[in-house]
Amino acid sequence: MTTENPNLRPTREEAEEAVRVLLRWGGENPAREGLLDTPARVVRSYEEFYDGYDIDPREILSRTFSEVDDYDEIVLLRDIRFESHCEHHMVPIIGRAHVAYLPRKRVVGISKLARVVDAYARRFQIQERLTAQIANTIDEVLQPHGVAVILEAGHQCMTTRGVHRPGVSMVTSRMLGVFRDNSDTRRELMAMLNRPGQTEF
Ligand SMILES: [Zn+2]
Repeated sequence: MTTENPNLRPTREEAEEAVRVLLRWGGENPAREGLLDTPARVVRSYEEFYDGYDIDPREILSRTFSEVDDYDEIVLLRDIRFESHCEHHMVPIIGRAHVAYLPRKRVVGISKLARVVDAYARRFQIQERLTAQIANTIDEVLQPHGVAVILEAGHQCMTTRGVHRPGVSMVTSRMLGVFRDNSDTRRELMAMLNRPGQTEF
């Protein structure tokens, strides 16, 4: 990993200047009134889009519960909306994640799974790596019997530029442990995922 080196971070002024360069590249005059505050706004947006670099996903999962009365069935969190950015074009990847694990002894608060998704999504990504990072981290920290992560997303580098194909979604998955090795467990997961969605709770 060569992603996290705060020493290489440019200053805020340098980042804002880079935005002015891109505005000029697009044909604009950055001194025009409507654009005066744009570099500062873009840089603040970037702080939000990419705040995943400041989050340690392992830390998020470190607090677990062991008094679960021997619960040994699949835990599935589905339809977790995520927003990421493609590292090839720096445009949004927007989609939904489904995260499942089969606990061994410990379970984690479900909001923590969504936060792990965010911690990796809010970086420059490709969907394949994002999928693998979420699954691998849950596997390493919780050491469950298995982990399954499925991502479906639209890539704006494909919908708003290049081949211009809106409505196309990309699906990636990473199955570890029993979800990879046991076809019954995988089938059970797929049945849970294919149940009609009910989001009005
Ligand atoms: Zn792209």
